[in-house]
Amino acid sequence: MMKKPSVTLLGAGLVGSLFAVFLAKRGFEVHIFEKRSDPRTSAKDQGRSINLALSHRGWKALRAVGLEEEVRKLAIPMKGRMIHDHEGAQTFQAYSKEGKSIYSISRLALNTLLIEAADAHDAIHFHFNHNCLAIQEDEITFFHTKKQKIIRVKPQLVIGTDGANSVVRKRINQLVKADFEETFLEHGYKELSIPAGENNTFLLDPHALHIWPRKQFMLIALPNPDKTFTCTLFLAYEGERSFDQLTSVEAVNAFFAQEFSDVHTLIPDLSKQFFENPTSFLSTVKTYPWHYEDKFLIMGDAAHAIVPFYGQGMNAGFEDCSVLAELLEEYRNDWSKVLPAFSKHRKKDGDAIATLALNNFVEMRDSVIDEHFLAKKQKIAELYEQDPNKWMPLYEMVTFSDYSYSEALQKGKEQEQKIVAML
Ligand SMILES: Cc1cc2nc3c(=O)[nH]c(=O)nc-3n(C[C@H](O)[C@H](O)[C@H](O)COP(=O)(O)OP(=O)(O)OC[C@H]3O[C@@H](n4cnc5c(N)ncnc54)[C@H](O)[C@@H]3O)c2cc1C
Repeated sequence: MMKKPSVTLLGAGLVGSLFAVFLAKRGFEVHIFEKRSDPRTSAKDQGRSINLALSHRGWKALRAVGLEEEVRKLAIPMKGRMIHDHEGAQTFQAYSKEGKSIYSISRLALNTLLIEAADAHDAIHFHFNHNCLAIQEDEITFFHTKKQKIIRVKPQLVIGTDGANSVVRKRINQLVKADFEETFLEHGYKELSIPAGENNTFLLDPHALHIWPRKQFMLIALPNPDKTFTCTLFLAYEGERSFDQLTSVEAVNAFFAQEFSDVHTLIPDLSKQFFENPTSFLSTVKTYPWHYEDKFLIMGDAAHAIVPFYGQGMNAGFEDCSVLAELLEEYRNDWSKVLPAFSKHRKKDGDAIATLALNNFVEMRDSVIDEHFLAKKQKIAELYEQDPNKWMPLYEMVTFSDYSYSEALQKGKEQEQKIVAML
């Protein structure tokens, strides 16, 4: 067995805190630095409260470190899409024939649970309020936001789980001739909240992911345990139907009354929320390599930030944890072999889920109400029922199966061509 180095993780978000547990279970000493304060003691520093859809790949990683059951207590199953038309009529589309669900979970609640689970290990040491400013040759410089002072650390191996603007990725890209691109979507997003109803009840069906598809834009809503729904409006920044046009209370109310008439009546303080909550951008990050020698590695959003339309960003990051743990097993903890193997093996899947996520934006906002799309969906469902080993709907492959993302993308394309020819 190789001597195990101490591992420095940068970022105690979803992927960082989960991977720390994987590492501790393999006997590594882990130091995890996070710019925010500890969510267990300060909820207000944690950014916006959003919920995420957790599915098979995420569950599998949680199960591998014994956390599945704890997380399930926080999650609400969603069995399919509930499509809302302009008049508020609703149509249900199940995600799978066998009634499989994706699960709505609060990002903050999940992150807090993972930090707690990691902190239970003596080998994991959290350093909150440490904002990484720079990484030099063999030293990381942090600014301690509470103590207001600079702290320098000399790490052995640094794993960047520091999200889409990763400092570790920037360091790798200074050291090698990296292939890097970040592309921004012309749509931004804004979160809004549907309150609980009278007697603390849900105002919409809690076991569905609600979608208001409007071709060039859409609204979605996911349930929370406190009986509220978090809605996200995806809308272009500029143009006829855009955030640029929604600059007055009247304009916001008129837009919602026309496009989402049922939601309009469910959010009494709609315009207040609309103007108080920020409009945020969405981007896709592609980069290569994901490592440098046996010193630096990136995973999660740091390596492959994607747009959220397949509900797979976190799931992909959790799958990174499973894949890395398998490679550590295969190469007997030899990071000099594990790092390049992970970079090479996983990059194609990062690229594939980025493509799938962009394609799914069109499906969610437009195709779900298109007759040709529905006919293709019906056809593949029939074929899948007849021969599940030969056919599987793309959504099932991505969300509920062990197919790699790149296999799912390829197989999905081939199936699509065959089905188009059959119709
Ligand atoms: C609107 C929206 C909806 C989404 N919906 C889904 C969904 O339904 N399902 C799904 O699977 N995914 C979803 N995602 C994607 C998901 O949120 C991300 O993929 C996931 O959070 C990535 O986790 P991460 O740990 O890699 O990065 P992050 O969650 O970004 O965590 C990075 C951590 O690093 C810390 N950090 C950053 N910079 C520094 C620094 N310089 N020094 C110290 N610490 C630092 C941050 O504070 C943070 O804690 C969605 C994303 C968005 C924007």
